[in-house]
Amino acid sequence: MKPSAREAFRLTPDGPAAVDPRDRPIGPRDKASAAGELAGLGERIDALQDALHAEAAGGGTRAVLVVLQGMDTSGKGGVVEHVGGLVNPAWLRVASFGRPTEEELSHDFLWRVRRQLPPPGRLGFFDRSHYEDVLVVRVDSLVPEDVWRPRYEQITAFEAELGRNGVTVLKCMLHISPDEQRERLLARLDDPQKVWKYNPGDVDARAKWPAYQEAYAEALQRTDSDAAPWYVIPADRKWYRNWAVASLLAETLTELDPKFPPAKVDVEAERARIETTRPV
Ligand code: AMP
Ligand code: MG
Repeated sequence: MKPSAREAFRLTPDGPAAVDPRDRPIGPRDKASAAGELAGLGERIDALQDALHAEAAGGGTRAVLVVLQGMDTSGKGGVVEHVGGLVNPAWLRVASFGRPTEEELSHDFLWRVRRQLPPPGRLGFFDRSHYEDVLVVRVDSLVPEDVWRPRYEQITAFEAELGRNGVTVLKCMLHISPDEQRERLLARLDDPQKVWKYNPGDVDARAKWPAYQEAYAEALQRTDSDAAPWYVIPADRKWYRNWAVASLLAETLTELDPKFPPAKVDVEAERARIETTRPV
């Protein structure tokens, strides 16, 4: 039997370094078939998301949160656009996390994250997340190691709590190669519609590639759990990356099996009322 997306992309003990960013372990082989499959996944995801919203309207507390991490240009925004774009935007909750503000820094590192959690019935996307507090913060020594290291456990406890509160967390590392990043950064410089996105700081982070890979490897390994699993998405091909995240989401929602709540009214009585009501 073919492995599910959750089996194919789940973090292994060998870490992200063992995954080829151009790999396609399952699913479509080319861009054209990926487009067709993505459309089909979109219909499934949208229908399930509608049911999740209805369930919450009926008192349910469940929600789904997709956490996106990856080096600059890895496609976090692209996934929000192309996978988030598959569902009713009314039920989306998208948040991106940049350099913390003064106010955010005055609180614990999870404060700003808690405020952006998807409410019941919603599908949340985090473009960067609390993981920056063990990634850039570690690589750039923004706080001492005895501050960032205990965060692995804080994160694990936080995500377990989310699970108990009905939020299913799906963590995706968008795994690109340094060569692909080079192409994408150069493409930003060359394209008048992309150059605004070019940030010289991305090249500083690029120069620290090995330190980032080490930080990613440890963060993923230490915070991977069945309650909040990590998936490593081969992301050098944009169409494969979108298909892979959509597949994970479709499988996750299918397993949640959200249920439309039963009617709160006496359907027959209401039918009769409509029929006998004569507007003047
Ligand atoms: P972008 O995602 O391109 O808008 O960039 C956001 C920037 O914010 C990246 O350079 C991140 O490294 C940085 N950033 C995000 N979270 C933190 C954090 N907790 N501490 C320091 N820098 C952060
Ligand atoms: Mg950026």
